[in-house]
Amino acid sequence: MNNKCHKIIHIKEESIAYEVGIEPGDTLISINNQLVEDALDYHYLVDDEYLEVLIRKNNGDEWLLDIEKDYDEELGIEFENNLMDEYKSCSNKCIFCFIDQLPKGMRDTLYFKDDDSRLSFLQGNYITLTNMKDKDVDRLIKYHLSPINISIHAMNMELRKEMLNNRFADRLIGYMKKFYDAGIIMNGQIVLCKGINDGKELDYSIGELRKFMPHMQSVSVVPVGLSKHREGLHKLELFTKQDANEVLDIIHKWQGIIYNETGNNFIHAGDEFYLLADRDFPVEDNYDGYLQLENGVGMSRLLLDEFELCYNELNSDHLIISNKSIATGISASEMISDMVNRLNEKFPNIKVNIYPIINNFFGHNITVSGLLTGRDIIDQLKDKELGEELLLPCNLLRSGEETLLDDITVTDIENALQVKVTVVQSSGQDFIRNILR
Ligand code: SF4
Repeated sequence: MNNKCHKIIHIKEESIAYEVGIEPGDTLISINNQLVEDALDYHYLVDDEYLEVLIRKNNGDEWLLDIEKDYDEELGIEFENNLMDEYKSCSNKCIFCFIDQLPKGMRDTLYFKDDDSRLSFLQGNYITLTNMKDKDVDRLIKYHLSPINISIHAMNMELRKEMLNNRFADRLIGYMKKFYDAGIIMNGQIVLCKGINDGKELDYSIGELRKFMPHMQSVSVVPVGLSKHREGLHKLELFTKQDANEVLDIIHKWQGIIYNETGNNFIHAGDEFYLLADRDFPVEDNYDGYLQLENGVGMSRLLLDEFELCYNELNSDHLIISNKSIATGISASEMISDMVNRLNEKFPNIKVNIYPIINNFFGHNITVSGLLTGRDIIDQLKDKELGEELLLPCNLLRSGEETLLDDITVTDIENALQVKVTVVQSSGQDFIRNILR
């Protein structure tokens, strides 16, 4: 038993906690006479119809609150620490780790290598399972937490140990079997490194992973990101167009086999592989409900389809005159250009300058917009015609904040470029709305 107390920082209005008088500054001590170790305990314990919640008020008084509620109703409490515990860091030294490729001098939190199973459930993080013990796995199973997102990388365990630089990396299969037997839903991710876990190894990995269906519900394959800050790190190469086509051939071969057997495609390539191979993105149905959007799998298809739907409903009788700019990563610039050209067919009086931003901060091999910095945007747009408004994709920002990776804010960009800046959500509707507004 521990004696952890959890400080409350916010109470949702009109929530149960609000009604029973719990306030910010109070401390949660126990629920149903059980101490709460972390967020998993908390979520598990509050899923009940009758609760006895012990709270220590700001003045030191202790209140024992009897609460009756619907089984899955939330209490409406936000804690100082989301996880209600220390974050677990990873015990690997992956040859492809992007954190090792960050330049010095960025904010401290960016260098923290988390590998915490609790964040898999709370935030959807992918975890390697290498720092878990049997008791941790048993606890997840006891709480029946699903889905768990697993960084697989290779199903050849010797290769996985080499890639993760961790002799415990071969525990993966045993743990996956336990999750499978317990009916826990899993999603997998493979970061593909040229000449290492691609080709025959990728083929083998997919063949092995499909044995865990249906509890393993999807697996994504994304290319390794290589920044220019790789001094002293494992030598890795970029994928070429031909490589990307070979990767897609393997994935499509398995999609055909698995779809015929199960009605699901199961294995999915990241959008970057289609862009690199110069192939069309698969149709929506191919993505099995977009289970891996957060991993950049299907984002482009979703955006294009949303754009098309919204575009077809636009009434071109309205006279719309506007002059705006869009800053984006190199990889998405062609697709954005095509969408703007389509808008121009209906609205010839809109002018949109599209500026693909070269990533000088991380190096020119990094072409996605999510890793652009404010400094690169400012430097590359300072002499450009920006019109009345500059549109930026939302994935430049940390969620809920207005800060880019290099701590430059949206307001800093507005001030430096002397233009109104609007952050556009990654949806086709928002894209159109902001251009035509
Ligand atoms: S698990 Fe590997 S890739 Fe992830 S943070 Fe740790 S070393 Fe980096």
